[in-house]
Amino acid sequence: MADDKKILLPNVVPVKLLADELNVSPSEVIKKLIQSGVLATINESVDFDTAAIIADEFGYVAEIESSAEPESISSDEGKGKKKKFKLRPPVVTVMGHVDHGKTKLLDAIRSTNVIDTESGGITQHIGAYQTSIEIEENGKKQKRLVTFLDTPGHEAFSAMRAHGANITDMVILVVAADEGVKPQTIEAISHARAAKVPIIVAINKIDKPEADPDRVKRELSDQKLIPEEWGGKTPMVPVSATTGKNIDGLLEVVALTADIEDLKVSYDSPAKATVIESKILPGKGAVATAIIREGTLRPTDTVVYGDEFAKIRFIEDWHGGRVKEAGPSDPILIAGFKKVPKVGITLTVVKDEKSAKEITEKLKKSGLVKTIAKPIGLGEVSKEASEGKLKELNLIVKADMKGSLEAIKSSLEEISSEGIQLKIIFDGVGTITESDINLAVASKAVVLAFRVPVPPLVLKLADSKGIKISRYEIIYQLIDEVVAALEGMLEPEIVETEIGQIEVIKQFFKDKEGGVVGGKVISGKVTPGTKIEVMRGIKKIADLKTESVQIGQEKVNKATKGMECGVKYKGGSIRFRPKDILKFILVEEHLKTVKRRV
Ligand code: GDP
Repeated sequence: MADDKKILLPNVVPVKLLADELNVSPSEVIKKLIQSGVLATINESVDFDTAAIIADEFGYVAEIESSAEPESISSDEGKGKKKKFKLRPPVVTVMGHVDHGKTKLLDAIRSTNVIDTESGGITQHIGAYQTSIEIEENGKKQKRLVTFLDTPGHEAFSAMRAHGANITDMVILVVAADEGVKPQTIEAISHARAAKVPIIVAINKIDKPEADPDRVKRELSDQKLIPEEWGGKTPMVPVSATTGKNIDGLLEVVALTADIEDLKVSYDSPAKATVIESKILPGKGAVATAIIREGTLRPTDTVVYGDEFAKIRFIEDWHGGRVKEAGPSDPILIAGFKKVPKVGITLTVVKDEKSAKEITEKLKKSGLVKTIAKPIGLGEVSKEASEGKLKELNLIVKADMKGSLEAIKSSLEEISSEGIQLKIIFDGVGTITESDINLAVASKAVVLAFRVPVPPLVLKLADSKGIKISRYEIIYQLIDEVVAALEGMLEPEIVETEIGQIEVIKQFFKDKEGGVVGGKVISGKVTPGTKIEVMRGIKKIADLKTESVQIGQEKVNKATKGMECGVKYKGGSIRFRPKDILKFILVEEHLKTVKRRV
């Protein structure tokens, strides 16, 4: 049954081809692409991963075409074997307010549970590490791995997401038990929510005498994170990063959360990995730290990244030791690149250098391959939407004072429109920050600044990411622009009215695209610019478009009942017969409006 829902796609997929394969119109594909943050036109291409996501939305499973499909190279197991799907370790990011103990917690996890104890102390070479946890499953002790991204904080998290490296499976939100919820705690919650990843709360510093875990729970409940023990969904684990108390308990919750998420991937296919850091190292050249998403990577592999490829020189694990293979969720360092790969890019193993060359040359020829979310400003929302009809308008609102922020928020809440949801994904008092911009990029949001300054560095970042910051001094101007943007996003209502009919006498001319047909107006009137439905008996045989109406040699604006006229049409190669009926239909777009009570 699954087979007829399977499609084969090349490594680089033109939008038009994707639409054909999915049996939908290119505009439907473009619409879905925009909803996923990719602005592509019909003449552009997307990479296989992006195409596969879109295919999935239409209920298809995309597989890579065999010509492009990298075969397993070290296939001791032989070809044609079924892929093995196994749970991969979860990838975790730690976030929270400054000084609440993110770094200390990461250190505590690393030093209490490291896998490698032989190397005499832990040396970590890259921005991620793995730790093993022992948990009881079905009465038996099981070892489980967890991968931690070692750049704590939501800035790093959103910067990575903005680059397309959406690799975090869950977030540990660190809240100090003596201080409770602080502004950056709230920011971190917004970032995790925007990424749609589960949040586990670590209530840290419980060794301190002034620690008050219940207060933390209450304050988090105000942010709509309700602890499990109060009937909510968010696990909240009291820990101390300093004494190491209950770090095991926290890791157990991480493992349990991973069980709920479906993290099954294939282990024996050629690898795909996402780059999280890249740089040039003396003696090693251009290197990248990557997290493997699926499959197994070996030092003999060749990988394609963007329109470049690299023959791998060596792979190191996070201790800096060379390895012969690495599997899903493993953080590794890869050397052998000619050019430093961009953060967020996917490395895909291909069969050999020859096919890598073929693939990348094809990619280079096909021009820009779109993969990463491109942001849009409020001004452009309407334009983008008219091509693809966005269904959600995400906003980040910053204001000078709590009072004005509340006024703006309640005015925005009063706006309602059918079909498009207005979502304030983050709001706050104060200047626009780099973190706001990264959040905007990652969630395709528009930044609205009300009477707040934008520091030059932030403006530069916004410019480089293509984020427009819309600035306002007066509340109703802000609201007006949001309403205008929403109205521009609404799909107009199409109203069709039949205005007249012609009975065909004879065809004068015909080619592939259209022709000229003559007939008599038997009812109403006919005008240029209308749609034509061609009826033969009771059956509609074609849809055409009127280019012009002629009486004798003269072009006219209309021909009315009783007149004989010629109609120049486009839209198909039709062989008319006398007595065919042409119905002329006026198509009007009625713009919808947005309701508001302000
Ligand atoms: P970060 O800014 O969130 O990365 O916070 P750090 O990990 O740098 O910790 C900030 C300060 O809090 C440091 O002085 C830590 O030693 C201290 N700290 C972190 N965790 C704990 C804890 O569990 N108990 C106590 N008493 N202090 C802690």
